[in-house]
Amino acid sequence: MHHKVVIIGSGPAGLTAALYAARANLEPLVIRGMQPGGLIATTSEVENYPGFPEGIGGFELAEAMEKQAARFGAQYLETMVTKVEVDQRPFVIHTDSGQTITADTIIVSTGASPRKLGVPGEEELANRGVSYCATCDGFFFRGKKVVVVGGGNSALDEGLFLTRYVDELFIVHRRDSLRADPVLQERAFSNPKVRFIWNSVVVAINGKDKVESVTLRNLQTGEISELAVDGVFPYIGHVPNTELFRGILELDEGGYIVTDGRTRTNIPGIFAAGDVADHIYRQAITAAGDGCRAAMEATWYLAEQEHARAKATATATA
Ligand code: NAP
Repeated sequence: MHHKVVIIGSGPAGLTAALYAARANLEPLVIRGMQPGGLIATTSEVENYPGFPEGIGGFELAEAMEKQAARFGAQYLETMVTKVEVDQRPFVIHTDSGQTITADTIIVSTGASPRKLGVPGEEELANRGVSYCATCDGFFFRGKKVVVVGGGNSALDEGLFLTRYVDELFIVHRRDSLRADPVLQERAFSNPKVRFIWNSVVVAINGKDKVESVTLRNLQTGEISELAVDGVFPYIGHVPNTELFRGILELDEGGYIVTDGRTRTNIPGIFAAGDVADHIYRQAITAAGDGCRAAMEATWYLAEQEHARAKATATATA
């Protein structure tokens, strides 16, 4: 299987790259990965993506992007990439379903994954009360008490979504002021189901077969306390999904792919778009913009290669 453009990852960056590459007649292949639609597909309500005055569900938005790119010829593959070989041209991509795909260019848009708390009980009770996706799991907490950890947009956005179901929501934040946008702060402060626990961190998640409580530590007083809850939703940021490219592409100290400001990586023909290369903006709209730029760069790169080949052939036959 050979493609001129292979896009790894299917969030807003990957799907926008697919749209632009498809409209350039490059018939891109999108390898959708573990989280089809990317993180945005797990977001309940997207209110800051232009063009949707009433907001739009994250899943709905991702689905629409996918259909739009498919209309122009983008193809999708449901699999995970296990290895990328970049020492030869075309590049070689291996998948966990045993396929080998060759590509003239690769656009890496593998995004980022939720950062774990790294406390006892978190791993053991995952999917048994510990969840990183309020949109997916909120329904199971109808009438219950839950903790959301973090003070950013995700914590407040997803916490507010959870108040549709839960009776009581505790937002545990390590400082006494929030990082989230003022509009979300106002909504959270005025929601009667929401209580803030300031200057505190979760140090353990407790329970036998399911979450029963969390142990909290107040960072100012050192006081340890226990809070009975049925669920824990950590929203403490993200880590870039760049394991595949360690030792291949240049990464910064946070593990994000380094680009030259034009989505180009240190390997000509490999481009990076979206959260995998952006630790500053990390918005669906900026990821989509990156995807567009990466596809345009890939298109120009392919045209240059074609031109160089044609010139070499002309010289050889002259
Ligand atoms: P974020 O903005 O990086 O916020 C992470 C939060 O977790 C911060 O409040 C941080 O505390 C806290 N934190 C980090 N490490 C921690 C630890 N080990 N223990 C306890 N707390 C910890 O991440 P995010 O909320 O996931 O947002 C990511 C990006 O997506 C942002 O650019 C955000 O604007 C965007 N986003 C936007 C929307 C929206 O516009 N509706 C919705 C979701 C996400 P400190 O504040 O003390 O650093």
